[in-house]
Amino acid sequence: MSTFKNNKPSRQEAENAVKTLIAWAGDNPEREGLRDTPKRVVDSYQEFFAGYNIDPNLVLGKTFEDVSGYDDIVLLKNMRLESHCEHHIAPIIGKAHIAYIPNKKVVGISKIARLLDVYGKRLQTQETMTAQIASTIYNVLNPKGVAVLIDAKHQCMTTRGIHKTDTTTITKTMLGDFLNNKDLEKKFIDMIKFQ
Ligand SMILES: [Zn+2]
Repeated sequence: MSTFKNNKPSRQEAENAVKTLIAWAGDNPEREGLRDTPKRVVDSYQEFFAGYNIDPNLVLGKTFEDVSGYDDIVLLKNMRLESHCEHHIAPIIGKAHIAYIPNKKVVGISKIARLLDVYGKRLQTQETMTAQIASTIYNVLNPKGVAVLIDAKHQCMTTRGIHKTDTTTITKTMLGDFLNNKDLEKKFIDMIKFQ
């Protein structure tokens, strides 16, 4: 994913753009309740889209080689996912399950959760996010395999447009052993279902 660093508008320009949207919606951006809204929206954008300032390849950071021979699946299950779709800038809320099989190296598990946040805090589709998380782990850790499954609700689909409120979208990317060995993919799915 390319990030747009050149020609970044100023904070004032961003606040003015929010003002324009409020007026376009039909309200008065100068009335008391809305006067500070552009500032708050731009603050929120800073938080929602903080992932553009972070290089995902550096997030996984330090790895540990002493794993006492551990070579089975490491699964982070039921991680909350918060993101925004690139088509409507509407929230995507759901769960992510990320697994890898170490190849002598393991990483602090919180780093994997952090990687999810970096990609979550960008505009994208769920499909690209799933593939990007998997390939970053695969390229940086060089593990035997990576499996990523995301199950999420898209508010562009639940609160507008087609209004299919109970629909969740599932995407998955399997790499390495998870791709080549269907039993491993099944084991991953079974572990996600295991309560
Ligand atoms: Zn959307």
